[in-house]
Amino acid sequence: MQENRVIIFDTTLRDGEQCPGASMNLKEKLEVARQLARLRVDVMEAGFPICSPGDWEAVHTIAQEIDGPTIAGLARAQEKDIEAAGTAIEPARKRRIHTFIATSPIHMEKKLKKTAAEVVEMAVRSVSLARSFTDDVEWSAEDAGRTDLEFLVEIVTAVVEAGATTINIPDTVGYQVPSQYGRIFATLRERVPGIEKCVLSTHCHNDLGLAVANSLAALENGARQVECTINGIGERAGNCSLEEIVMALKVRRDRYGLETGIRTEEIYRSSRLVSSLTGLPVQPNKAIVGRNAFAHEAGIHQDGILKHSQTYEIMTPQDVGVPSSQLVLGKHSGRHAFRKRLEELGYDLSDEEIGKAFERFKKLADKKKEIYDEDLEAIVEDEIYQAGEFLTLEYLQVTAGNRTVATATIQLGREGDIKEEAATGDGPVDATYKAINRLVPIEAELTDYSIKAITRGRDALGEVSVTLKINGRRVAGRAAATDIIEASARAYLNAVNRFLAQEKRAGKDIPAFGEKLPGV
Ligand code: MN
Repeated sequence: MQENRVIIFDTTLRDGEQCPGASMNLKEKLEVARQLARLRVDVMEAGFPICSPGDWEAVHTIAQEIDGPTIAGLARAQEKDIEAAGTAIEPARKRRIHTFIATSPIHMEKKLKKTAAEVVEMAVRSVSLARSFTDDVEWSAEDAGRTDLEFLVEIVTAVVEAGATTINIPDTVGYQVPSQYGRIFATLRERVPGIEKCVLSTHCHNDLGLAVANSLAALENGARQVECTINGIGERAGNCSLEEIVMALKVRRDRYGLETGIRTEEIYRSSRLVSSLTGLPVQPNKAIVGRNAFAHEAGIHQDGILKHSQTYEIMTPQDVGVPSSQLVLGKHSGRHAFRKRLEELGYDLSDEEIGKAFERFKKLADKKKEIYDEDLEAIVEDEIYQAGEFLTLEYLQVTAGNRTVATATIQLGREGDIKEEAATGDGPVDATYKAINRLVPIEAELTDYSIKAITRGRDALGEVSVTLKINGRRVAGRAAATDIIEASARAYLNAVNRFLAQEKRAGKDIPAFGEKLPGV
């Protein structure tokens, strides 16, 4: 690979998926993986196969179906982890095992309870074992940002000798600052024999808002791989954002002289897809992909832009694929236009799925004059990605007001059987949730509720995201509707249905109406 080419390693499906409430099902992960391939990421980390049979299956399916990028699976420095990763990525044409072990004093002592010498030995063994599955082995020093530099040189020297081809230096806790982080890379290049045959890689977290700046500092000091995620999602404050690092390198090519293989016109679509499938909104002022990233409000700015776009724009919305007009469809749009628009938005659906989504679209178009991309995303999310509809919303009536007790009457369906309950509550949403709780076979505690208008105007679609705690597990649910109480009810049911789908996959029977699942 050329000296000035930066490898983009996307970890949206692994580190990104680790962030609270972001978990995706297999179909959703595949959809993201397809979009990442269109975006032309060089490597996609598809998951952490040892975590669960579901994770293994997701990585394996992505390895089977996605062509183009290298497919990576994560593994701790343990035999069973590396075997799981090795077998999961097996079908991919280009495959990588990414194995890691913690190297900071606090992690080695408190978490691993191992001496430094033992950690070196484990790292070497894991790299050798990984090499028996593939020639492409990445090794990471977890918490490298707080690792003693002398020890880092020692352990990197050992794993390079053992056959690691990419050396990743993660700032796992987001503690580093650019000058110091860059120095680590310079030191490794100076002192590790054979390092020139390996790719040095950066993996930064954004706890101090420095993930992108730190990644750039690493590149200035010889790193040639950046690990990042769409919209910067990830553990805690998230990871280095793919769109920001890629556009920084593109816009400031004069300064860095580096390039990536990313098709930047696919950035906006990728951002929307990940936001819609994870339920994690993008803040309006987010660089590159936020709603306001290209909105010019001040009169002087608007005037300047109209005269010459470069007066106030260092890149154009078209560079990152922001559609110039988002008004797409209406009541008179046909199935063909509908399908075409969904394809443009990055969805790859079967005829049957298109049919289902189109019916819903027609119903919405009767209520709402202008259908925006966000409406379509909400429809697809709601109709297609619902994880097994064990319970359906058949009927909902709510009364509420400032001088009346909120009351909800609800009917839920289960395989043709319909049951009704009513409840009062502190407001219409509370009343609705209490009524639902009487009918569902689990005890759920609502831990998070948020509502946002996802389209414009008074007839906008409202999207509700909820997080429930069921049996100690957190389950997220989302739904959109023009009626916010209905969206609230559907989001709650979406979470319950997701939980029940997981239980069913784990081999448990889902009880009939009126009975509770054992253990809850
Ligand atoms: Mn991480």
